Amino acid sequence: MAGNESPRGTHSARVDPLTGERTTIVSRRQSRPNLPDGDCPFCPGGLEAPEPYEVRWFANRWPPLPGGRAEVVLYTDRHDATFASLGVGGARRVVDLWAERSEVLGARPDVDYVLVFENRGPAVGATIAHPHGQIYAYDHVPARAATEYDRFSEHGEDPLDAHAPGPDLERLVCRAPGWRAWVPDAATWPYELVLAPDTNVADLPSLDAEGRDGLAALLVDVLNRLDMLFGAPMPYMLWFHQRPFDGASWPSLRVHAHIVPLWRDAGVQRYVAAAELGGGEFFNPVDPVDAAAALRNCVR
Ligand SMILES: [Zn+2]
Ligand SMILES: [Zn+2]
Repeated sequence: MAGNESPRGTHSARVDPLTGERTTIVSRRQSRPNLPDGDCPFCPGGLEAPEPYEVRWFANRWPPLPGGRAEVVLYTDRHDATFASLGVGGARRVVDLWAERSEVLGARPDVDYVLVFENRGPAVGATIAHPHGQIYAYDHVPARAATEYDRFSEHGEDPLDAHAPGPDLERLVCRAPGWRAWVPDAATWPYELVLAPDTNVADLPSLDAEGRDGLAALLVDVLNRLDMLFGAPMPYMLWFHQRPFDGASWPSLRVHAHIVPLWRDAGVQRYVAAAELGGGEFFNPVDPVDAAAALRNCVR
């Protein structure tokens, strides 16, 4: 079955008449396993990884999008590893796999956008502890990415330049060759971060070897700092924005990553509350300059 046509089928895309926001109803996902007690399906020899591997991808068995457009990416064969513990070499293998899958999925005629992302920790809904991320390949450009591209066209210049720290560098957290990580001036979450290259590269596949090494080094550094911040593994959401794979040329777009850590203090979750959802505007209890300083001070 094709999947997304039937209003009561496996995937039903709907648009709310009040807000215009899109939701896909995927009721079959309610029966997926939650934190299985038995053998890890991602460890070598497990259900999703029968052979030895360093990094690996496979089609999501419980796909939120139909037609093979949802994938899982395994970062390492080591169940207890963290992203930071992969080191730059291990992280580079992950970056290469993200780029390869973006290219393959992006070349499909039914794919306009490839979102590479990770939910880390049970607090963010990760149902299996083994280090992994996911990829959704949309048949349209999703709203959040489309909003950023509209701002590119409105301003006629790269909004990431305006977003990055000013000459005072108060919001800069760290650098890697060709890359920077900073806390946004209008961060909606405490310790929220943006990671971007210094030059315009529109997508993950277009990063050259140096660009990929720089991204790998920056991710290892930043994610290590987040785990050090409160002395415990930080639950976070991470995603990449890259150009739409819609056949158009996007010469001025810059690939970048957003990281949203969940905690505002050790073990204390920041909740999005009624006024924020109701008003669509956020109230952040941590000054971005203080957040950047705290993360700069996290050095092993
Ligand atoms: Zn495992
Ligand atoms: Zn973005």
